[in-house]
Amino acid sequence: MSDAEDCIFCKIVRREIPAREVLRDDEVVAFHDLRPQAPTHVLVVPVLHAEHLSEFNAKAKPELKARLFGAAAEVGSRFQREGQGYRVVINEGADGGQTVSHLHLHVLAGRHMTWPPG
Ligand code: AMP
Ligand code: ZN
Repeated sequence: MSDAEDCIFCKIVRREIPAREVLRDDEVVAFHDLRPQAPTHVLVVPVLHAEHLSEFNAKAKPELKARLFGAAAEVGSRFQREGQGYRVVINEGADGGQTVSHLHLHVLAGRHMTWPPG
């Protein structure tokens, strides 16, 4: 079984498990996080399976990289409180707190975020 067959986010992309989707096209799928850390917490996931940012950077065409940023901006703009902004996060590897090995962006909105992150 390949990594992509087993991967929870690939299963959401293939609609094998349910998710509360907010955006879908041929390149990206965005859906609400199961355990939200803000009033709005959406994950933006490329259809392409890449475990880490470096792998994604090597595999993804420039158009896909651009689309991922574009999708995060669309989601953030849609869910932010009236022009109050939002946060976009990548948790990379063990020290970054990554728990799902399929590169994804977190878009957090709906409250004021503090810095530094924990
Ligand atoms: P990370 O820890 O950065 O790898 O982010 C993984 C995120 O995926 C966590 O915030 C989880 O709550 C979320 N998550 C895990 N499984 C699911 C699922 N089936 N549907 C939605 N979100 C999920
Ligand atoms: Zn995957």
